[in-house]
Amino acid sequence: MQSRLRTTVTLLALCVANIHIKTTLAAPADELVLAAKGAAGSDHAGTFLRICVAPDNLNGTPRPPPARAVPDRASWYAHPYKVFDNLYFLGTQIHSAWAITTSAGIIIVDTLFDYAVEPEIVDGLSALGLAPKDIKYVLISHAHGDHDQGAAMLQSRYGAKVVMGAADWETTLQRPASAPGGVPKRDIAVGPEGLKITLGDTTVDVIATPGHTPGTLSYLFPVKDGNRTLTVAYSGGTAFNFPRVAENFAIYRDSASKMAAAARAAGASIVMSNHTEFDRAWDRVRIAQLPRAAGEKHPYEIGIDSVQRYFEMMRDCAEAQRLSMN
Ligand SMILES: [Zn+2]
Repeated sequence: MQSRLRTTVTLLALCVANIHIKTTLAAPADELVLAAKGAAGSDHAGTFLRICVAPDNLNGTPRPPPARAVPDRASWYAHPYKVFDNLYFLGTQIHSAWAITTSAGIIIVDTLFDYAVEPEIVDGLSALGLAPKDIKYVLISHAHGDHDQGAAMLQSRYGAKVVMGAADWETTLQRPASAPGGVPKRDIAVGPEGLKITLGDTTVDVIATPGHTPGTLSYLFPVKDGNRTLTVAYSGGTAFNFPRVAENFAIYRDSASKMAAAARAAGASIVMSNHTEFDRAWDRVRIAQLPRAAGEKHPYEIGIDSVQRYFEMMRDCAEAQRLSMN
C-alpha cells in the first residue's frame, strides 16, 4: 500500500515537473501569439489571422504591388451610407473613407485610391445630401495609395487642409507629379506628439502611432447615436507589410500600447479601421441601416473591453514577431 502510494506521489511529481518544463520551455513568442488569440476572441479573429498567423512580411519585405490597373467597378464600388448621426461611410467594399459632419463643415477621414474618390467621396456626399465644398479637413491615416490618392484632388478642388504624419509627408512629397491622384501640398504635419483638430463643435484627437508606416496616425472622435455620444478609436495602420526588422515591430508594439491607453482614457467603445476586413465595415454600415429593437446597440458598438482587446492583440502580435526573430 505504502509503495503504491509512493509510486503515485512520484508519478504526480513527475507530471507536475513535466507541466512546469513545458511552461518554461514554450517560446515566449508562442505564448504571445496565444495571448493575442485570446485577446482577439471571436470579434477580432480576422485581424488576428492577418498579423499573428500569417503576417505579410514573414519572408522579408513584401514587394510593392505591380502597376495597378483600375479594377472592375463591381469588385469595389459600395453605396454611401449614413452610419451615425454625424458619420457617413464613403468607402469601397475594401477600403473605408468617412465623413464626420460638424457645425462648421466636413472632416474626411482617408481618401481611397484615385479611381474611387470621385464616385465614392464626391458623388457619395452629394447622394447623402452633403456638399463636397464643405470639406474643410482631410485626415490621412498613412501614406499608402489605398488611403491617400484622393487627398490632392480634395485639396485642390475644395481647399481642404490635408493632415498627415510628418514622416509620411516626406515620402509623399517625393512622389512624381504623375503619381496616381497627384501629390498634395503639405498643409498640416503631425509630429511625434499628435494634435487635436477642432472644426466647429467637433474635435478629433490625432494620435501619432508609427509602425505600419513611420507617420501612421490614429484617431479618437465622437459619434452620435440618437441621444448618446460614443467614442471611436480609429486604428490608422494594421498590416505587417513594412520591412521585417526588430525595431519596426517594437515601434508598432509601442504604438498599439499607446493607442490602447488613449482609447481607455477616452472610454472608446467602437473600433474602426481603414480596411473593411479589419472592422467589418462593409457589413456593419449596411446592418446599421436596419431598424433596431428597443435597447439594441448600434452594430459598431462593441464595448470598451473589446476595443481594448483589439489593441492588446495588435501589441502582442507585433511583440511575438519581434521575439521570433531572435
Ligand atoms: Zn497601408
